Amino acid sequence: MMESLDNVVVTEVTDENIQQLWDSILANMQEASFIAIDAEMSGLGDKSGTMHPNIDQRYTSLCSGARSHSVISLGMACFKMCTNSSNSNDCSANIIKSCVVVYNFVLLCAEPYTIDPTAVKFLIEHGFNFNKQFANGLPYKKGNDKPDYDPKQHSIRSLFSELLCLRKPLVLHNGFTDLIFLYQSFYADCPSKLSAFMADLSEMFPAGIYDTKYITEFVDHASASYLLYVFKLACLKNTDQKKGNKTSLNVEFVEHNNHSVLVSMNCDVKHKAEKSNDVCMKFAAYGWCIKGTACSKSHNTDEIIKFHMQKSGNRKRKNQVESALNETIKKKKEESDLTKCEFQKNNEIEKNDSKGPKTSNSSQGHRSGTDAFMTGYTFAMLVVSHAQQMPEETANPNKIGVYSNAIPFLPQDLQKSIINKLYLSGKNIPLQVCKSSFTKTSKNHTEKIIRVYLS
Ligand SMILES: [Zn+2]
Repeated sequence: MMESLDNVVVTEVTDENIQQLWDSILANMQEASFIAIDAEMSGLGDKSGTMHPNIDQRYTSLCSGARSHSVISLGMACFKMCTNSSNSNDCSANIIKSCVVVYNFVLLCAEPYTIDPTAVKFLIEHGFNFNKQFANGLPYKKGNDKPDYDPKQHSIRSLFSELLCLRKPLVLHNGFTDLIFLYQSFYADCPSKLSAFMADLSEMFPAGIYDTKYITEFVDHASASYLLYVFKLACLKNTDQKKGNKTSLNVEFVEHNNHSVLVSMNCDVKHKAEKSNDVCMKFAAYGWCIKGTACSKSHNTDEIIKFHMQKSGNRKRKNQVESALNETIKKKKEESDLTKCEFQKNNEIEKNDSKGPKTSNSSQGHRSGTDAFMTGYTFAMLVVSHAQQMPEETANPNKIGVYSNAIPFLPQDLQKSIINKLYLSGKNIPLQVCKSSFTKTSKNHTEKIIRVYLS
């Protein structure tokens, strides 16, 4: 039972264990109320193209990036939302429990691909293990199904097909790029037109796609929307909800197998200016700074949240947040020894290859897994903070054979305002995932989706 979110349980999937884990992965996907995904790429390609103000051109650039580069790991977090009614001793009705399983798929594209040096530097700073990737990554080939593709074989491509068959709501953070890479890597060659791509997506994910970056910027109006920031805000919100005796979220990691590891969520990369309260404005706005770990100003997200709260001038809210933050920081210090013990105790499930201090490289190469978890958690907190009791049948859309786009506890009017809207950086309108009467789905998709459903 893990009340605080200092650690996340991540199961790493490689070509060594996928056979063994396959059935339980599918079972956990089947049970989920929604599935959060995050992809780590070897680069995106031409920067001026991928940030082009014209969205059609941006799409074309990202497609060519997805053809020349590869997905090097894929994170998937399955969230099952349920009330805490199973715990009969706990009479508080205002806790929503979420049973969570997090996977980190290590992938290896079997065709030549480009690696951007900046992407590699970033990945290494976050503990990505290239040796492991080349030794045990799950092999895959991009584009349309190749003649040697066998859908019965357990591969990342067949897993993606299973995801489509399950028709679960999909949650991403800044998901436009990820969706293009997922499509190109595990599904089919991307259509040449953006409108066709959007139409294809609406058929592939009929239960809807949610983008937590869009939600954060346009529904929550937060001061920043990079993932770690958004996740930490969600954690603070949960602390507030608990204190105010409002509906709160309780996460339980349900899967513990001999491939799972505890990953510390103390995610801020250690950094020269850790003691300085001088916040890096670049990092505070974008969650990224060109100077990286060499920057002399603070990239600490707790400090950045504090800074934004001070600026916002809402004293009551500021004090609440500050006390919650100080509590978090204090608790982290107190628990660092405890965590060490726990790691040693769980030695049989812990395969930590870094010999340095745990906190220095906290995602331990499971970044896409923890990113998928943070994305799912942020979405779960959105649901919890607007929670509505629902009739029994809508609250349990997971029964076999029953298909629904309902998410337990999420009110329909809120759902309507956020479903199928993808965040576009530099734009104040989202990209709509839909099929209009003027646009057709692509040929590759119409052929592939039939094979997916039939296999
Ligand atoms: Zn900086």
